[in-house]
Amino acid sequence: MQYLIDQARVFPARAAAHGLDLGGRTHGRRPRALFISCSDARIVPALLTGSRPGDLFELRTYGGLIPRFHPQKPTGESRTIDHAVRDLDVTDIIVCGHSHCEITDAALDEGDPSVQTSAGQRHIVSQLDVLSGYPCVTPRLADRSLRLHAWFYEVDTGATLQYQPHASAFLPL
Ligand SMILES: [Zn+2]
Repeated sequence: MQYLIDQARVFPARAAAHGLDLGGRTHGRRPRALFISCSDARIVPALLTGSRPGDLFELRTYGGLIPRFHPQKPTGESRTIDHAVRDLDVTDIIVCGHSHCEITDAALDEGDPSVQTSAGQRHIVSQLDVLSGYPCVTPRLADRSLRLHAWFYEVDTGATLQYQPHASAFLPL
């Protein structure tokens, strides 16, 4: 914990040394994307995408799980998605899964990594289906003002794959 405290204390100096715009002057600017990913500590969206303050609006959940939309039962996740799509008017949503994810490890007893990878990739595509059912998302997919992307990050190599619907497969970005 002390390491984190020390880093937070010197952050203003580190940011200034790197000429980092902290985004205070660009409050309300549209983020480049809504990035939905697993809470796993090995996934660092800003590092992966070279993002700076203001670039990514993030939603992190266990396994990148997105709850189905229920109008009578809004959740923290559904409010986050709604805010990104309606208020921030994002044009892209990335749902990013990863290898060695506990949620697919837990779902499968098999130790075969390729089985776990394909299960993890299917899981991410199924989250896009859930997302497509959100009332804020559906009309914007229809008028093509919003695009959904399924990514799969390989923890051991640092490579990222993207789902290509025409190939029904995850291919390198
Ligand atoms: Zn995970």
